[in-house]
Amino acid sequence: MGAKITRRDFLNGVALTAGASVLPNLVPPEMWAAAAADLQTEAQDAPGYYPPAKTGLRGSHVGSFEAMHKVRDGAFWDDAPKPVDTGESYDLVIVGGGISGLAAAHFFRKTAGDKARVLILENHDDFGGHAKRNEFRAGNRMLLGFGGTYSIESPSPYSAVAKGVIEELGIDVPSYPKYVSKDLYRSLGLKPRIFFDKETFGADALVANAVHTGGDESGLSDDAGAADLRDFLKDAPLSAKAKEDFQRLLTEQKDYFPGLSSDEKKARLARVSYAKYLTDTLGMSEEIVKLFQAFPHPLFGVGIDAVAAQDAWGLEMPGFKGIKLDPAPGKGMNRDCIRNDEAEKYFFHFPDGNASIARLLVRKLIPAAIPGSSAADVVLAKADYSKLDEPSSGVRIRVNSTVVKVNHLGDPASAKEVEVSYFTEGKLKTVRAANCILACWHVVIPYIAQELPDAQKEALASAQKVPLLYTNVLIRNWSAFQKLGTSGVYCPGMYHTGVNLDLPVSIGGYECTKKPDDPIVVHMMKAACKPGYPARDQHRLGRIQLYSTTFETYERNIREQLLRIFGTGGFDPARDILEITVNRWPHGYAYEYNSLFDQFWLDGTETPCQVARKPFGRLAIANADAGAYAYTDCAIDQAYRAVQELKK
Ligand SMILES: Cc1cc2nc3c(=O)[nH]c(=O)nc-3n(C[C@H](O)[C@H](O)[C@H](O)COP(=O)(O)OP(=O)(O)OC[C@H]3O[C@@H](n4cnc5c(N)ncnc54)[C@H](O)[C@@H]3O)c2cc1C
Repeated sequence: MGAKITRRDFLNGVALTAGASVLPNLVPPEMWAAAAADLQTEAQDAPGYYPPAKTGLRGSHVGSFEAMHKVRDGAFWDDAPKPVDTGESYDLVIVGGGISGLAAAHFFRKTAGDKARVLILENHDDFGGHAKRNEFRAGNRMLLGFGGTYSIESPSPYSAVAKGVIEELGIDVPSYPKYVSKDLYRSLGLKPRIFFDKETFGADALVANAVHTGGDESGLSDDAGAADLRDFLKDAPLSAKAKEDFQRLLTEQKDYFPGLSSDEKKARLARVSYAKYLTDTLGMSEEIVKLFQAFPHPLFGVGIDAVAAQDAWGLEMPGFKGIKLDPAPGKGMNRDCIRNDEAEKYFFHFPDGNASIARLLVRKLIPAAIPGSSAADVVLAKADYSKLDEPSSGVRIRVNSTVVKVNHLGDPASAKEVEVSYFTEGKLKTVRAANCILACWHVVIPYIAQELPDAQKEALASAQKVPLLYTNVLIRNWSAFQKLGTSGVYCPGMYHTGVNLDLPVSIGGYECTKKPDDPIVVHMMKAACKPGYPARDQHRLGRIQLYSTTFETYERNIREQLLRIFGTGGFDPARDILEITVNRWPHGYAYEYNSLFDQFWLDGTETPCQVARKPFGRLAIANADAGAYAYTDCAIDQAYRAVQELKK
């Protein structure tokens, strides 16, 4: 993984499959009941209300999803409480307080003026959506982690609109190098390693990383060198045949498709998975497939069984040296797999990830809620949640509020108002607005905006989110990492497939950990997928897995995995783990189109997101899903478009 493209380095001709899956979408009702029994919604203006400091199961936490799942299952309205009219009326109600919803409020106020009244309704206990801040305490020290959206980065250059917002927020992207201790880990002799687990590879072994994989999200490592390759070949618990295959994979200069033009080769590679390409075209052993299986998890949340060989070529995975492809992107390539120099230079990581962007947006919208005046000082600024929903404020953010229905008051073509119904603290409440932007996940929209045309609902429903776990573990010290000489480990067969020391960034008075004796946040990443199924089905199955796993199980897996990797370096989970926050994102990345499963993407015809995001009456549609692109710039761009589409 290169220093700038950190996420990059860290499904058979099925067209639109919305609603067509034979796979179950539901988690057993008794599980919802158990979760709901645990619900404790705290008022956001209660003294001490401060979600970033919560640990345990975060991300889509208990209390955030039950109402919406009841709506989905057709079980909400039968026993719904009588709606209470709040009497509130707004110029704009925004559903979803992620970066797209917050950016929509920002754009709307710029157009409509400071007097415009905006309400943002968010089902989680915090604003920011995927851009989630995790705070930890080690003695007197506060340490930060990113619970989701990690950094300003995108495979394509930020648009003028998205860049404009970043600049208005005071974020000086080119200044990033002065905040990151780029050489810290390298200077201590730490480098990326691979952990082979005995269940997958026959023996537990921590080995030099010669595959230059996505296991190291620190962005600080060099590509594997010759010494790493030597060590890897010596130490990896792979068969002699697999080791031979591996060397051949890195070096072979053969054209596997003689007689075909570059375009013909790309067309073929676009329709075959990298896993099949390795075995069927290159004759690689299954061990090699297992080794690379989780390589694309950080980007797509699926393994190489569901990533096209053409995309693997774009990601510079091995095996394409001899087939001489023209460097131009091929038809149907995923945008994540197309290198762009300008985009690669545009990178900025705050210690809490893009939660800092969300916080800066909130500060712009509701200055009283977050003190300070610069992009740097927001890092340590403590948000005052009691100020988020004050009647006197032009913009109000109401958390713990799940929107369950949005409808026009009259014929959508001519109505002057919409009514928005939301469920909070056991009550069903309504507000009115001249306009409504749905900046929430697209799969939710068909259930809450039932007036939409069926074709649009189907397109919205096809945006199956990519389920992910972003786990942060506060540990007492990282001497075991130092002893074992690693800052990041790729674990292709384990529960979490990436384990990384925090990216060392000091900014705005926040000091990253620089000494191995000091506490640090370790970031672990898991993509919940089921190899062998089409991507959308893998996402559905993974979502069920994430929702139905208890914190105790997550915790056990975390402790066991850290012990197995770092135990020989002296790591003792019972002694060394101080706190754990599991950010569960069953609805994670926006689904990005994939030449293996989305024929329209190969054909260049209208995509589902183009149908999904059409305005309807007084409703406009934002969210990163609206661009089928899992990046913050998309969330901002789509918010901008949605605001332009609102009826005057
Ligand atoms: C783990 C993870 C890591 C990521 N890392 C990066 C990264 O490094 N860089 C990058 O650019 N992008 C990253 N992304 C992509 C990320 O999705 C976008 O950058 C951006 O944060 C998305 O913003 P959004 O507002 O479109 O969606 P979201 O952040 O998902 O916000 C939508 C909000 O709507 C809410 N909502 C849903 N239904 C309802 C309802 N019925 N009522 C009320 N509210 C509702 C949701 O709970 C959510 O809070 C990452 C995503 C994930 C999941």
